[in-house]
Amino acid sequence: MSNAAKTTTANAKPVVTRIAPSPTGDMHIGTARTALFSWLYARARGGKFLLRIEDTDRARSTPEATQGILDGMAWLGLDYDGEAVSQFEQAARHAEVAQQMLAAGTAYKCFATQDEIEAFREQARANKTSTLYQSPWRDADESTYPDAPYVIRMKAPRDGATVIRDQVQGDVTIKNDQIDDMIVLRSDGTPTYMLAVVVDDHDMGVTHVIRGDDHLANSARQMMVYDAMGWDLPVYAHIPLIFGPDGKKMSKRHGATGVKEYQAMGYPAQGMRNYLARLGWSHGDDEFFSDAQAMEWFDLDGINKAPARFDTKKLENICGQHLAVMEDAQIMSEIDAYLFASAQPALTPAQKSRLNAALYCLKGSAKTYPQLIEKARFALNQRPVDVDEKAQKHLGAVSNGILEELTPHLQSASWNRDALEAAVGRVMDAQDIGFGKVAGPLRAALAGRAQTPSVLDMMFVLGQEETLARISDAVQE
Ligand code: GLU
Repeated sequence: MSNAAKTTTANAKPVVTRIAPSPTGDMHIGTARTALFSWLYARARGGKFLLRIEDTDRARSTPEATQGILDGMAWLGLDYDGEAVSQFEQAARHAEVAQQMLAAGTAYKCFATQDEIEAFREQARANKTSTLYQSPWRDADESTYPDAPYVIRMKAPRDGATVIRDQVQGDVTIKNDQIDDMIVLRSDGTPTYMLAVVVDDHDMGVTHVIRGDDHLANSARQMMVYDAMGWDLPVYAHIPLIFGPDGKKMSKRHGATGVKEYQAMGYPAQGMRNYLARLGWSHGDDEFFSDAQAMEWFDLDGINKAPARFDTKKLENICGQHLAVMEDAQIMSEIDAYLFASAQPALTPAQKSRLNAALYCLKGSAKTYPQLIEKARFALNQRPVDVDEKAQKHLGAVSNGILEELTPHLQSASWNRDALEAAVGRVMDAQDIGFGKVAGPLRAALAGRAQTPSVLDMMFVLGQEETLARISDAVQE
């Protein structure tokens, strides 16, 4: 039975998905999204999610890029089952499968030289016929084999069509005369990617191949190997690539494309997961959701056929909504990781405890960790606070008078928000001034900035002693 007529039986098996990145550069957000879709799909079904590093291209694969993939997965919380598989290490197994196909007659030795192949193509161009190479060795008798290097090629079907039953794209038909006798084993005995990917997916028990639609055409060729070996086809889901706002494939031209860059920009992982899940997949109008909801809702039929456009504003918005409801402990540990990822100094224990105490008044108004840290400046600063130019305008003789008048009220206040509000209110009444006239100098004294969280929150978080000391520093300047 040809693959064209075969309906997949993979649905009945426990789900096994995988992500198979090539470690040739920074982990792309598209790879992260494919990993996320595969992870959600497997986890929601009690299945397995596997990682395979496609490091067969020795010249372009680097250990740094592999580490980047592991780090990116860890940051996004995409845990995989078992050990990461190195494709390169399976080379002997790939060669074994090539030999099996050779023995079965579904593949053949091709002794054609580069010059001969080029001459074929030139002739085809002149004749205006297909330039897909047709090897004379396909049906040659073994007795005619020369003692020369050879590659192993698949015997591709010459007529009919191959239908890829894709869960996202629908049935995609590729005429078999568009498919050449692809090489599966090179003359040096190394496997090609087209062979390796199929053997590995089969050996790893992968039931669902979810990947970018740039691999769609490859599937028709890869299906030949499944067919030749009599293996069950996986379910295919080829997802549209991520585009930039201009509708072109997302690239550095549009801004950051690396997972690492987004971590270093301080997006919370949970927000990033939520945004990436929404990028090309939808569940009604839901934009903001938890991991548990994503897991419950995610399915292949919710994946859009049209490419999604990356929208930084949406990402920020979703991140802000997650930050507002995240557990403090989670935020604190992600800030540590963010500072590390962006090569900034770690927080001291004193800064940590003050930042932790300040989170309640910060988390609703920041979308990223750097924004949160900027708003937390008052809590992280040491005395004497450095005062910027804008804040300096709020300090001077008049403001000093206001701060001096406030001081005894603060000295006698019990340290809660209501009492602090009452203390500020007394100065407003006594001087017949508005809240801003007290808040401006207080912001400058406590944070050294003109824009800060609420002065009442800042005083509350800093505590009585530190608040009075910062006010006294400002007055004495
Ligand atoms: N290694 C391929 C890539 O990084 C993915 C192959 C696959 O998912 O089948 O694009």
